[in-house]
Amino acid sequence: MSATGWVLFVAALLLAALVGSFTGVVIDRMPYRRDEPDQFGDLWGARTWREVAGGRSRCDACEAPVRSVDNVPVASYLVLRGRCRSCGERIPVVVLLVELAVPTLFALAFWRLGWSWALLPVAVLIPPAVALAVIDLRTLIVPTRIIWPTFFVEVAACALAAGLLGRWDLLVGCAVGLAVFAGPLFAIWFIHPRGMGFGDVRLAVLVGWTTGFYADGSVGGALLLTAVALFLSAVLGVVIGIGALGARGRRAQVPFGPSIVLGAYLTILFAGPILSGFGATATGA
Ligand SMILES: [Zn+2]
Repeated sequence: MSATGWVLFVAALLLAALVGSFTGVVIDRMPYRRDEPDQFGDLWGARTWREVAGGRSRCDACEAPVRSVDNVPVASYLVLRGRCRSCGERIPVVVLLVELAVPTLFALAFWRLGWSWALLPVAVLIPPAVALAVIDLRTLIVPTRIIWPTFFVEVAACALAAGLLGRWDLLVGCAVGLAVFAGPLFAIWFIHPRGMGFGDVRLAVLVGWTTGFYADGSVGGALLLTAVALFLSAVLGVVIGIGALGARGRRAQVPFGPSIVLGAYLTILFAGPILSGFGATATGA
């Protein structure tokens, strides 16, 4: 990679770390526990973006506001050795993991896809996907407030990337991906609504659209790629499900969101080898 390439890469990683830090804020502040389950049986609700963005971060234990010098992504956690400066209470390690996850997932995507406009759709997906996965894992809700704005930004990002690459046909792959990923989940939800939340269907719309972008504009390729992503998500869902039943008991509800985003992300990363196995090509490969 050229010197300019490295400078861009480091700048992008720093940006990803800042975005990762905000992702942690969203995960921490958006869900709130309801006094009683709502009409869908959800124990958790989602605060508005205004409430999430307003105010300063505070320690969960002593409520002391977090000073700006202690709010540097990753570095502050390490300097403070994972403890609040005021009261010494442990800062949840999930904060550090999320701050690290966003730049790491971005760097892996860069390693696989290279510096190209084809990187844009997956880069846009990573922060909200991390937020949705962790929120679903902790609260079993998949906030609409995150999904729909992300979906519209993702549609714009795919259109922008397709335009800049001069490949409007890539959007055909997106549409096929959306249908192949969300269709079966919608059918499952329709037949057995208590088995899976509608949030998972919305999530499938978002990740299906994004996955389809990487099928190089081929309808058959998009069908294959998204089917692989769906299969991978189902396998991961079984694994995470067994883990959740083990940890939370036999009547535990199983979050499917983390499996959906992880299955799609891995499929996007390895779209090249997956599609070449079927004689097709991936976008940008
Ligand atoms: Zn404290």
